[in-house]
Amino acid sequence: MLQVTPVRAFTDNYIWLIHSPQDAARVVVVDPGDAKPVERALASRNLTLSGLLLTHHHGDHVGGVEELLQNRRGIPVYGPATEVIPGNPQRLREGDRALFPDLGLAFDVLDVPGHTAGHIAYVGHGAVFCGDTLFSAGCGRLFEGTAEQMHDSLSKLAALPAETLVYCAHEYTLSNLKFGQAVEPHNQAAASYLSHCRELRARDEATIPTDIRRERNVNPFLRCDDQSVKQAAEAYAGRRLPSQPEVFAVIRQWKDSFR
Ligand SMILES: [Zn+2]
Repeated sequence: MLQVTPVRAFTDNYIWLIHSPQDAARVVVVDPGDAKPVERALASRNLTLSGLLLTHHHGDHVGGVEELLQNRRGIPVYGPATEVIPGNPQRLREGDRALFPDLGLAFDVLDVPGHTAGHIAYVGHGAVFCGDTLFSAGCGRLFEGTAEQMHDSLSKLAALPAETLVYCAHEYTLSNLKFGQAVEPHNQAAASYLSHCRELRARDEATIPTDIRRERNVNPFLRCDDQSVKQAAEAYAGRRLPSQPEVFAVIRQWKDSFR
């Protein structure tokens, strides 16, 4: 299994350090929105930054790229094919792979548009690094894509092996689960996960990583095929919702206005 260390940034971002299975002191950094906490983590743990993986163009994911690369020109940097990203990354799309041969790391790329138009995810070693597409018990906002695109993207992630660990980029789990209770008040798996996450957060611990099995059970955005989710969305919308993307679109709108 991968060794992955979280670095906290801004108010609720996670920047992930993926340790090389061959040399745990060498790391690939995922979505460094801010260089300073990454540099502090590298220095305090005696780690060497050996590559970057970037999921999408938002500043809280790529804002630290140029600064991190200043003294590390030549390390591999991977990013989405169709977005403007600092650091001159190698541009990847679905079917491509992000390779770090001397680290023993390799990731398959999935196109997961919806939050942004060119958002990609990295899948490998039993884990997925999915940026702002799938969150625990939630999903990213639709800034550039359509509900149909995001539903397709989430369906790809939900189809990964159930034990796949999900490394998303924000600690939004508690507020997502509160919304989930409004959609599925009788979801027992979500209720027990909520009490578990409350304990973790009370100790200031991360709820991430989650895994695909749990998300299929607790995440309303992955459960648009479930009758109770469909009925809740139809009651909210006041109309029939014949397709899963329509159910998804309504619960995404519902979440946007949920307090
Ligand atoms: Zn974003």
